[in-house]
Amino acid sequence: MAEGLEAVIGLEVHVQLLTASKLFCGCSTAFGAAPNTQVCPVCLGLPGALPVLNRRAVELALRLGLALGCEIDRHCRFARKQYFYPDLPKGYQITQFWAPLCCGGRMEFEVDGTPRSVRLRHAHLEEDAGRSVHAEAYVAEDETLVDLNRCGVPLVEIVTEPELHSPREAACFVAELRRLLRCLGVSDGQMERGSLRCDANVSIRPKGAPDQGVATEIKNLNSLRALERALATEVARQVAVRGQGEAVSHQTLCWDAAAQAVAVMRDKEYAHDYRYSPEPDLPPACIPERWIEKLRRALPELPLARKRRLEREYGLPPERAYLLTDDSSLADYFEAVAKAVGVPQLACNWMTGAVARTAKQLHVSIAEFPVPASSLAKLLVEVRDGALSDHAARQVLSTMIATGRPVEDLLASRGTSLPRPEVGRVIEEVLFQHSTLVSGYRQGKKQLFGFFIGEVMRKLPDEADPQEVRALLQERLAGPPADPEGD
Ligand SMILES: [Zn+2]
Repeated sequence: MAEGLEAVIGLEVHVQLLTASKLFCGCSTAFGAAPNTQVCPVCLGLPGALPVLNRRAVELALRLGLALGCEIDRHCRFARKQYFYPDLPKGYQITQFWAPLCCGGRMEFEVDGTPRSVRLRHAHLEEDAGRSVHAEAYVAEDETLVDLNRCGVPLVEIVTEPELHSPREAACFVAELRRLLRCLGVSDGQMERGSLRCDANVSIRPKGAPDQGVATEIKNLNSLRALERALATEVARQVAVRGQGEAVSHQTLCWDAAAQAVAVMRDKEYAHDYRYSPEPDLPPACIPERWIEKLRRALPELPLARKRRLEREYGLPPERAYLLTDDSSLADYFEAVAKAVGVPQLACNWMTGAVARTAKQLHVSIAEFPVPASSLAKLLVEVRDGALSDHAARQVLSTMIATGRPVEDLLASRGTSLPRPEVGRVIEEVLFQHSTLVSGYRQGKKQLFGFFIGEVMRKLPDEADPQEVRALLQERLAGPPADPEGD
């Protein structure tokens, strides 16, 4: 950033709510269906069709608003925003222009460990439009196809004050917002599927100047990388324009990821370019105070607060705590194991190591992980007490997953018949078969140790623990005590 200048960034984040059906009709919101198979007269706006507000969508928007400390407008009102677009067959979008459901509030987040906070203007409900398809291989160059499945999908749009000052800050804000949305069950936050998209307003001003200056708007940023790169490119462009003594003009831009450049979409339209009118088919929905209170009481611990608590309570390094709170079921699992084992570091190492790896291999989330926290805890207690090596414990974990046998069974069988007596028996057998070499070893040919290990491991089943074999073999070769050559 050039001397004495600062970037001023405000975001509008469009979030798809995690509902099974659309905002005003019963059509499915499932991703990936064949084009135009999830539509009905209501979401297409055919004559005579009447919208009915989806209660679940309101509930999710309220959850988000309450978590962000917004004020709730208990009269949920809608307006029609009239504009023509090929993927909007109604010719208008139902949104909350005059009366957003959630006002004010703020979002806390961290930028590489430094706490930041940004105020929010509001968060409102609206329906999504359809999708124009032109960038696909099956669409001819001069054609645009339209898929209306997204028409009427419930969105909440979160609008920040222009208080972000770098592309990195903007990306960290969105990353934290996504963690929050997932933790609350409000959205799956999958940017690659379009369930979280950003528009960014960006301007440059002399540091500390009171107003934002002329801003451009970059539309439809659909990954954190695109957001950060697009903002960095646009900030540099505006600094260069200023440097040439010219003025930045009010434009709507889009990010061309292939060219790593911003391109002009159209000259900026102003709010008064749209015609708004109250939505006549939807009476204001009155939200009872007790519903709001019930939702407020049911809010979980939010991810950032939890991250900070994990650092404080369990002494975890920030990056590990961040990793564990990325998914609240992961953090739940960790806390259950850490409490039962009493050594948070051990639990954390296993969670971010063996457990994370195994879950990835099995393609399951931690919520679907086949070994419950209580079983992993029993296993780690053995590791903590030195009764089981890390290696052996990992094998017990694999066996539990492969066979579904309870941890108690596996630990009990290890304690009685397997593998210690088995290892001992095989060691005796190997030493007996190679008694000449044993004498050689005892007379100083220490390099033979590797040969004995190899022989023992070869005769043992797969799950033998090399560390255990090594220890037992060393012990055995050191004796009998009368042997003058003993180690
Ligand atoms: Zn529909």
